[in-house]
Amino acid sequence: MIQLTDIHKTYKVGARQVEALKGVSLNVEKGQIYGVIGFSGAGKSTLLRTINLLEKPTSGSVVVNGQNLLELKEKELRQARKKIGIIFQHFNLLSSYNVFDNVAEILRMNRVPKDVIKRKVEDLLRLVGLADKANAYPSQLSGGQKQRVGIARALATDPEILLCDEATSALDPQTTESILELLLDINRKFNLTIVLITHEMQVIKKICDQVAIMENGVIIEQGTVLDIFSNP
Ligand code: ADP
Ligand code: ADP
Repeated sequence: MIQLTDIHKTYKVGARQVEALKGVSLNVEKGQIYGVIGFSGAGKSTLLRTINLLEKPTSGSVVVNGQNLLELKEKELRQARKKIGIIFQHFNLLSSYNVFDNVAEILRMNRVPKDVIKRKVEDLLRLVGLADKANAYPSQLSGGQKQRVGIARALATDPEILLCDEATSALDPQTTESILELLLDINRKFNLTIVLITHEMQVIKKICDQVAIMENGVIIEQGTVLDIFSNP
């Protein structure tokens, strides 16, 4: 489903160069929950953003669903990105929009008919357990509820892949648990492929099938969670 091959990424910071990724390769199969763990600055976020080309690699190839994203024209890339949803640590909701409109916005931009949007948003809010919050504003929601809105919004374009950028790092352990259960539920229900980055071991242990450990711009170990964390 996702093949990243020999990805290098160098940021220019003034006269300085930061090598965030130094030849990273990753292969994620359809339906897998793939976790990338490592300390801050390891390159996890850069790697995750390479998958939807929010970050363009300096070299290497990015193949998603059989398409080499780096070779697509702008319009084709926009189409391909609809199949890749993303959620964030700080949720990135629009504070002046209520829950319904936060989820509906992307569908309106895609010119989906009004009645279809209504049905779809209602379905999605039911899916994430927020059917009764459609008219609430983000400031009226808990962190966990905000992330549920983030998840509903990410699913609005029926993606095949969901990218999670430290999606539970701003949440307390109990709320983290419930968000991870929701992600697992969605993974099973839609055979959705999930790639998540985290610095929290328990996140990996709870829901991931595969894991990569990143350090300093390289993957130092990868394999099944059972193989890599077999020691109690
Ligand atoms: P992580 O997600 O593991 O914390 P990042 O991918 O955010 O790691 O960062 C990897 C390295 O790249 C760090 O040294 C960071 O400072 C640098 N970096 C990340 N984004 C940028 C940017 N937009 N401009 C310059 N340097 C960046
Ligand atoms: P339920 O029967 O519990 O209401 P549905 O199967 O109707 O659940 O799905 C709820 C919503 O999730 C629908 O609007 C559906 O289009 C949407 N959805 C989000 N992601 C996907 C996906 N990858 N595949 C199918 N439906 C998805």
